[in-house]
Amino acid sequence: MAPVSDAPFDVGIVGAGIVGASCAYWAAREGLSVVVVEAREPAGGTTGAGMGHVVALDRSEPALLLARYSQRLWQELAPSLPAAVGYRAAGTLWVAATPDDLARAEARRDGLRRHGIPAEMVDATFLAREEPALRSGLAGGLLVPEDALLVPAEATRALLARAEEHGARVLAHRPVLRLTAGTIETVSGPALRARRIVNAAGVDAPRLSPQVPIAPRKGTLVRLGVPGVPIHHQLVELGYRESVGAPDPVSVVFNAQPEPGGTVLLGASREWGATDTSVDPAVTERLRRRALDFAPLLGSRTTVAAWSGLRPATPDHLPWIGPLPGGDDLWVAAGHEGLGITASLGTGRLLVDLLLGRPPALSPTPYLPDARRVPGPDGPPT
Ligand SMILES: Cc1cc2nc3c(=O)[nH]c(=O)nc-3n(C[C@H](O)[C@H](O)[C@H](O)COP(=O)(O)OP(=O)(O)OC[C@H]3O[C@@H](n4cnc5c(N)ncnc54)[C@H](O)[C@@H]3O)c2cc1C
Repeated sequence: MAPVSDAPFDVGIVGAGIVGASCAYWAAREGLSVVVVEAREPAGGTTGAGMGHVVALDRSEPALLLARYSQRLWQELAPSLPAAVGYRAAGTLWVAATPDDLARAEARRDGLRRHGIPAEMVDATFLAREEPALRSGLAGGLLVPEDALLVPAEATRALLARAEEHGARVLAHRPVLRLTAGTIETVSGPALRARRIVNAAGVDAPRLSPQVPIAPRKGTLVRLGVPGVPIHHQLVELGYRESVGAPDPVSVVFNAQPEPGGTVLLGASREWGATDTSVDPAVTERLRRRALDFAPLLGSRTTVAAWSGLRPATPDHLPWIGPLPGGDDLWVAAGHEGLGITASLGTGRLLVDLLLGRPPALSPTPYLPDARRVPGPDGPPT
């Protein structure tokens, strides 16, 4: 491998999760010289533990705007992505258990359509025909056809490979100790110099930039072997959106994703206060029981694997994207909680527009780093 240049890079990025990879991709595409410094393997953090649901989640207006902006960028990039990324617009089917749920789904459909996002109501007959793994007796659902699926680790590697084609350097297994203006100090090897440094260290971002208020919100996934029980859409119970804001120490909703190899990923749990990624059998049991409520054929299948990851959550559930207060050389792109796979492309694009002093296509205001950003209605992630 060629030695790292002594001249300062234009951009130094800490973290090769999907957010750091996207920042590297957009920056290198613009002709900036880029170095990415990663403590582990690329996608070795939360990204490798996530589901690959590229979802227009209408949790708040700024969250939806960033998700939709990103979704459009994924759509543009998709045809040139390697097959291993597994990108496909399978759509989300938000499943309504009761007539009350259906009424809420209609309100969500109208909200999505106001943002130009196709969405349509479907009835119980549609559910039975399209998704036979679902139990009978469900009320119907909301179909959002442009939501997509991908394999997060493969997408990260693809973005980094693109960045490298444009000259970026990716240094793995090189933990960063400290960031100062213009310098990335690493545990081993000489310090790296960069004119702008982007902290994209996900849930670990506060270790390097203590002013970034990120707390872990643990999530556990179960991979099921489901021969003969295909599912076609991302199946999510309608109450998922509310669970994101739930103050409960542990919340569990039904969320199932078909994987390219024929397995199904089952989520999703949300846990405050846990800082390790060990799998709690009580949580996997709750995931299974929740699945039984919606799709008994899934809930009764064999577990192939189970793992946990830590979502990087901010008090207002929105990422921090932009320069940190007090200078123009230390930047951050972190805190995407459960939407980082989706929002990575828009985040990188927004950040690089800001770096270049160019007007971004999306207003950056809701995501700009500012310690005065107040907690959302759900309160801070304590
Ligand atoms: C169970 C679960 C399901 C999810 N499902 C979805 C989904 O379907 N759709 C969606 O959009 N999002 C989903 N998410 C959220 C998504 O996975 C995260 O928002 C996203 O992966 C965050 O990416 P990141 O690059 O910011 O962080 P990470 O992937 O954690 O990357 C940060 C990187 O920084 C590195 N790093 C940290 N400290 C240092 C240091 N000192 N020096 C060098 N490197 C360092 C880490 O090793 C890591 O590789 C899910 C998350 C979980 C846990």
